Formats: sequence, C-alpha cells, structure tokens
Amino acid sequence: MKDNPTVSVHGLTKRYGDRTVVDGLDLDLPEGVVGGFVGPNGAGKTTTMAMLLGLVRPSAGSGTVLGAPIEDPAAYLPRVGAMVESPAFYPALSGRENLRMFATVGRHPEERVPALLDVVGLGDRGDDRYRTYSLGMKQRLGIAAALLGDPALLILDEPANGLDPQGVHEMRGLIGSLAHRGRTVLVSSHDLSELEQICDWLVMIEAGRLVYQGPASDFVSTTEHGFGVVPEHDRDIDTLAGVLASAGFGVDVEAEGDRGGFSVREGGHRSSCALRGICRYAVRIA
Ligand code: ATP
Repeated sequence: MKDNPTVSVHGLTKRYGDRTVVDGLDLDLPEGVVGGFVGPNGAGKTTTMAMLLGLVRPSAGSGTVLGAPIEDPAAYLPRVGAMVESPAFYPALSGRENLRMFATVGRHPEERVPALLDVVGLGDRGDDRYRTYSLGMKQRLGIAAALLGDPALLILDEPANGLDPQGVHEMRGLIGSLAHRGRTVLVSSHDLSELEQICDWLVMIEAGRLVYQGPASDFVSTTEHGFGVVPEHDRDIDTLAGVLASAGFGVDVEAEGDRGGFSVREGGHRSSCALRGICRYAVRIA
C-alpha cells in the first residue's frame, strides 16, 4: 500500500504575507485508506486541502497526488472529488435533479445518480426538494456530488461540522464505507473522536505543522503501554491530570515540559473515552 501512495507531498508550505499558515508539511496518504486529517480550528487543514485541490497555490513544497506532480493539478484533478464547502445546490430542485445537473456540467454519466443517492442514504428522499433537506442530508448530497466522477481520491473538509449527534453518526457510517476498490478518502475534522473510529490513517496538524502521521491503530485508543497527551486548552492541565489519575493512569505520570502535557506510562485500560473533550491529541510513544 505504501509503495503506491495517493498523496506524497513534502515541505508543503503556505505563507500569507509574513504569516506561515502551513509550515513544511510532509503528507503521505497510502492508497485505499480513510485518512483522518485532524487539528484545531485554524490549524491549516482547509488551506492544505485547497493546495491539494489546486485552489490555493503553495508557497513551497513538492510531491505527487495520484502520481502526478502537485505543481500540475490539471493532471490529477479529473480523478479527485471534493467537498470543501457546501456545494451550491438549487433549493427548488430535488436532490436527484441537482445531481443530474452536476453530472451534466461535469460531464459525468447521469446513470450513476440513482446509485449514488442510495450510497449516501438519500434513496427515498431523492425526489424531495433540496430546501426541505436537513443539514446532514445536504452534506450527504454534497458527498454524492463529489462521487459523480467515481474519484480515486475523495477530499471532504469537515463534513460533520454543525451536525447533531445522529447526523454525525450517519456521516461516520457513510465516510467509513467510501474507501473501496482503491479509492482513498481524506476527511478533516477538529474533533479526533469524530474520526478515530472510522479512519485507518491519521494526519494531525497544529499551527500548520505535523504533529502525528501514521496508522490510526497506533493511537491512544488502542495503546496499553504509554502515550503523550496534551490538553486542548492549557488551563485544563490540572483537570487532565485528575482525569488521568481517576481513569487508572496515575501509575507514572511524567510532566512533558515542552508540549505542556504529560507522558503517561503503564496505563490500565482503554482511555480515549475519558480523554475525549479535553485532549488535543494523544499519541503512542512507547
Ligand atoms: P477551521 O477548522 O477553522 O476551518 P483550518 O484548520 O481549516 O481551520 P484554515 O482555514 O486552513 O484552518 O486556516 C489556517 C490559517 O490560515 C487561519 O489562521 C486563517 O485565518 C489563515 N488563512 C486562511 N486563508 C487565508 C487567506 N486567504 N489570507 C490570510 N490568511 C488566511
């Protein structure tokens, strides 16, 4: 799988004036994975995705997307589907009519529309007007539109943003099912817990820099040996220490000075539930 990466870019950088918003990012996405792209608001996820999609020109960086150079997006974009912002659908048309129109404009086969409505769980609502859709249904129709060209790489920017718990649950199920027959998915979120159950690969960034990249299975939710944790907000450091202790991780908690968090060793049991909501990230270190 690693011999044939879908995305392999190095030193990807975006500067606006003297602000560097993506800073020398090395991004590798193996073929066929559901890759979670996680980071707090403003970390640079959308900017990175926009660079991969040729919407924003990188200030520096090189590499390939689907085997073609990132400097030449036209060479790979026909094989990429994306939902970076909610697509502009016509409110008065049905979901089916909107998809047909997108198919015509994008020169994709219209025959795919019924199957795609089924894929995104809109099979029985496809003939209802778009304006009657819930936010979750609108987002799922956006994913159907991104799938019209049967893309080898699907890029979804915060598709679960603003959804209620049921909508997030449905979105998770949908995204988890989209990587197949060699298709690779890159999906972003500011919330690790939204993605950790469905992703087999994780890329985490913070302030434009890579924090972690690798198999999701190396993450804290499966670790039994040790991990590093950093609170979402610095002020939560004492709360985090308390939660770690009460969750059975008080055996050997060491301060991890430079990152404002802890190294935790010899943890007792699965921890991710206890750490959700206060932890920015937690990476296996032992
Ligand atoms: P969010 O989840 O809030 O969308 P993000 O991780 O997607 O966050 P980006 O939208 O990529 O982050 O933004 C990263 C930083 O780049 C932010 O500080 C943002 O203000 C800045 N930024 C984005 N686009 C521009 C622009 N065109 N000009 C100047 N700064 C920009």
